[in-house]
Amino acid sequence: MIAPRTDLALMAGYHSPRVEVAVRLNVNESPLPPPPAWLQAVRTELGRLDFHRYPDRRAWALRTALGQTHQVGPEQIFAANGSNEVIQSLLLAFGGAGRTAAVFEPTYALHSHIARITGTAVATGERDESFAIDLSEVARVVSEADPALTFLCSPNNPTGRADPPEVTEAVLGLAPGLVVVDEAYGQFSWWSALSLMGGDGGPGRDRLAVVRTFSKTWSMAAARLGYLIGPAPVVAALEQVALPYHLDAVKQVAGRLALDYQAEMEARVALLVEERRRVFAALGQMEVDAWPSEANFILWRPRHRKGPEVWHDLLERSVLVRDCSSWPRLDGCLRVTVGTPGENTAFLAALAEVLQ
Ligand SMILES: *Cc1c(COP(=O)(O)O)cnc(C)c1O
Repeated sequence: MIAPRTDLALMAGYHSPRVEVAVRLNVNESPLPPPPAWLQAVRTELGRLDFHRYPDRRAWALRTALGQTHQVGPEQIFAANGSNEVIQSLLLAFGGAGRTAAVFEPTYALHSHIARITGTAVATGERDESFAIDLSEVARVVSEADPALTFLCSPNNPTGRADPPEVTEAVLGLAPGLVVVDEAYGQFSWWSALSLMGGDGGPGRDRLAVVRTFSKTWSMAAARLGYLIGPAPVVAALEQVALPYHLDAVKQVAGRLALDYQAEMEARVALLVEERRRVFAALGQMEVDAWPSEANFILWRPRHRKGPEVWHDLLERSVLVRDCSSWPRLDGCLRVTVGTPGENTAFLAALAEVLQ
């Protein structure tokens, strides 16, 4: 038997355990489903699908609809099976052997993980004490590593804060290659790096790509659909590394029709932002340290107890959160997804009990 690549063994498991619980707040899914009218529309269109034919290889209708949402043409949109596949495509097209991707920890683990899988070297910088991007650290990393790709994540998973516009602009000025802003939680934030695209064209605007997903704000984690908005030449390069017909016809329909329910999406986001405020305020009354968040989750740390023990005690009360305590610089930390009002109340009640 041939052994798999030896470097794969170093990429330790990241996945959250999937156990049966009453309150599932561990992977930042939307607690609410998409509207019934969307499901009905999908059903109707699926009835008309030619299942014996390959799907539209370029996913043109979906990309056109996404482009209209963001006021760009379809040639500036690349869609894939979740934003993780968008990230993989970016690393296949612009990374690979002899090239480097820069990340700033603590951040979304999949950026460096997928980089390594694609044979891309990873240059790691550190965020400052409050987990904000430190521009002198960015300058150090990019001058040492000359990265082909620099990843930002705004709002940042798992810490929650968005990079302010002047920081993203400064990174565009410092980084030599593509600057990829992962906006999986973009609609929860007060601003988007999309606003830096086009316009009067500051430095690096032609090297900026923004990645979004249907998994969180659009309540469609099951559909596995994500996309990138970026310069047309970047999109063309991504199409070169995509497998033929990588995007199946069902999700092309599901994603395109979802965009007809933008107002419903925004209403769900507004509810979760309100609940985020409530949960954050409640955590402030407990023996935990919590970090302000502009996403649909909150990072926090029990003051007097070990993170994994609190995680376990919550699980015994049928509440599942994410144990981040072994992640870089997150010693003792846990992350809770903002759920429905009922789920959040159940989480807070269980936590109050656990910390007593
Ligand atoms: C959840 C998440 C994603 C989503 O990945 P999909 O493959 O689209 O489900 C991407 N980036 C970040 C930072 C996330 O937290």
